[in-house]
Amino acid sequence: MAKINQNYMQLQGSYLFSEVARRRNKFISENPNASIISLGIGDVTRPLPEAVLSGMHAAVDELADSVSFKGYGPEQGYEFLIAQIIGNDYNTRGISLETDEVFVSDGSKCDVANIQEIFSLDTVIAVTDPVYPVYVDSNVMAGRSGAYDKTANRYENIVYLPCNAENNFIPSLPDKKVDLIYLCYPNNPTGMTLSKEELKKWVDFAKANKCIILYDSAYEAYIQEDDVPRSIYEIEGAKDVAIEFRSYSKTAGFTGVRCAYTVVPKGVKAYDEDGNSVTVRDLWNRRQTTKFNGCSYITQKGAAAIYTEAGKEQIRSLVDYYMTNAKIIREGVKSLGFEVYGGVNAPYIWLKTPNGLGSWQFFDKLLSEANIVGTPGVGFGQSGEGYLRLTAFGSRENTETAVERLTKISL
Ligand code: PLP
Repeated sequence: MAKINQNYMQLQGSYLFSEVARRRNKFISENPNASIISLGIGDVTRPLPEAVLSGMHAAVDELADSVSFKGYGPEQGYEFLIAQIIGNDYNTRGISLETDEVFVSDGSKCDVANIQEIFSLDTVIAVTDPVYPVYVDSNVMAGRSGAYDKTANRYENIVYLPCNAENNFIPSLPDKKVDLIYLCYPNNPTGMTLSKEELKKWVDFAKANKCIILYDSAYEAYIQEDDVPRSIYEIEGAKDVAIEFRSYSKTAGFTGVRCAYTVVPKGVKAYDEDGNSVTVRDLWNRRQTTKFNGCSYITQKGAAAIYTEAGKEQIRSLVDYYMTNAKIIREGVKSLGFEVYGGVNAPYIWLKTPNGLGSWQFFDKLLSEANIVGTPGVGFGQSGEGYLRLTAFGSRENTETAVERLTKISL
């Protein structure tokens, strides 16, 4: 008899996006003439940059010739891409990395979900709340979460670090023992960042407590302010305690193409049952070489093209496009009297719902009065209750229309 992994029964389902879709569909069926604008999705809408397309086209041609044909590539990624990553994304900021500390993959979602499997099952994880749900659910599947408490909207064995307007979205250091700490900056869903000083507190804490920080930097390309850290390795000592995840999805429109990378410095150690230190990089390498067969050559050639002069220029203008949308939304809603966060160094705008409305109540109001779909903050965790996320990934036209429509809702 095939038995299931019972941990899966603890998952709370993809309640958030299915419930958003259900309410949206119900509204459309009752109001077939309404033109809905979605500022809810976290997917990009602009086409791939020219440089990326040329890089990929050239790679396709190489595969057409038996001399330049490529079969399986290195599981860790091709050196031509890793060299560009280290040179452009790290060396330029004074960070040195070795080639075998970078692992190219087909997306950060898999990397942030898979990384937990190299740690023991009694590992205590800490997440900021609200949170990108993958960190939590991947640990639920592994059996680390304990039972789900419906009233609290939380799992009993996970340490939640609330981030809200009261603490200016700066999480406090845990007041109990934790082992793995997930940090995501610029943050999805709040769009907020951490200063170097704040990030240093986490690095120091991790060092003092033998923790590892899993630093998700999927939105790094959206940082506009010079003093915001772009990599956790800008903080002294981080190469001993932090693993960093970066993705080309939002940087260069790769959500459908799929390419990302994870940095696991050799200084990051975890401990075996006898207390001996083990190099985490080696375990990740073993995991990847066993379960992953590399990101496609065509994709990696496309990713490498981002680092050409033309590629850099084109992704700058792509990011500028979305960040102009973010500014339009942010300033638009601010001028209407909303309390608004994020949207300065990230493509996400995090609104405080007006008049004490719950996240779902405000979602319904926005849908019925302005025909706009947002994402209810409570769907990202209990501390998101009373907030709503809007994204800047739409077209300029839709973004402007949405902001105009917002002026019509009754507050
Ligand atoms: N990390 C965060 C915080 C995200 O918001 C996303 C995508 O929405 C990802 C990772 C996934 O990125 P990828 O498309 O590389 O899988």
